[in-house]
Amino acid sequence: MIVVMRPDSNQQNLDSVVKHLTDRGLKAHLSKGVERTIVGVIGPIPGELQDELEVMDGVGEVVRISKPYKMASREFGPTDTVVTIGKAKVKIGGGHFAVFAGPCAVESPEQVLATAKAVKAAGATVLRGGAFKPRTSPYSFRGMKEDGLKILAAARDETGMPIVTEVMSPRDVELVAKYTDVLQVGARNMQNYPLLDEVGQTRLPVLLKRGFAGTYEDWLLAAEYVLAGGNLQVILCERGIRTFETFTRNTMDLNAIPVIHRLSHLPVVADPSHGTGKWYLVTPIARASVAAGADGLIIEVHPNPDTAKSDGAQSLTPDNFAELMRQVKAIRAVLPAKAPA
Ligand code: PEP
Ligand code: MN
Repeated sequence: MIVVMRPDSNQQNLDSVVKHLTDRGLKAHLSKGVERTIVGVIGPIPGELQDELEVMDGVGEVVRISKPYKMASREFGPTDTVVTIGKAKVKIGGGHFAVFAGPCAVESPEQVLATAKAVKAAGATVLRGGAFKPRTSPYSFRGMKEDGLKILAAARDETGMPIVTEVMSPRDVELVAKYTDVLQVGARNMQNYPLLDEVGQTRLPVLLKRGFAGTYEDWLLAAEYVLAGGNLQVILCERGIRTFETFTRNTMDLNAIPVIHRLSHLPVVADPSHGTGKWYLVTPIARASVAAGADGLIIEVHPNPDTAKSDGAQSLTPDNFAELMRQVKAIRAVLPAKAPA
């Protein structure tokens, strides 16, 4: 439910509405637009609440949110959410564009640092790298775990770039949160509800990847778990879905970008590396994603993709990544300031 305050309402009216909610054990989320303030109501809503709120001074309208996801919906947050990452305060959403880049997996301090320096020089603002790797086969390289987190943190100290890394299990959230600036929830875990609850208890931004077979509604309901925990810093990531096509690893669903902007206030980034599975498709699909209005990109880059321990076939060399960044910049320059919702 949202409470739309009248344009001529005052601070005292707003305070009374918030108090009315908190007295009933509910929470209020304020969205202050240029013309009006909207109060999002968080928690189980008693039947009489709408009538009570409607007669309060300064209240324009009380609207029930019809979608199954509430806090993730556009109605709840008419202004775009801006997520702020790390000490460097990298912003994403609401017109702020961020590029996350780095290797699929952390392999060594040298590999991570060389990649971090190269992607930073090319304009990336957040360093990615997996330390806990979800692998289709249990015999594949499954990551360096805490040693990998330490390597990422050292690269952050040296370059100033905030880091994003995956957490696969609720029991690892505390450990991973000690090191990282953004918690990544991978495609395979989009509907791991205990994990979503756990990351919802942190106050770190969460990068929530879309599951292989997740509908937009499934995905936004997964985000709702994190938001309902009180963590409002959620970034959605389209990384391709499973279709009948086998030539590409996944099918990048470009529709998702403008659809999510219409349905939700949360930022959405594109992952053309996993969305295609082939390095030579990454740049064209990154261009298309940016043209479709993505708030950012996440790109796998490796100093020597042929020797990568995971996802080498879809990893860009630093030179190819720098060229991608040049092309993305050129495309952004001709886009409207903020694509309409
Ligand atoms: C990754 O980012 O390396 C990864 C495992 O992604 P996804 O969860 O999208 O497969
Ligand atoms: Mn990968």
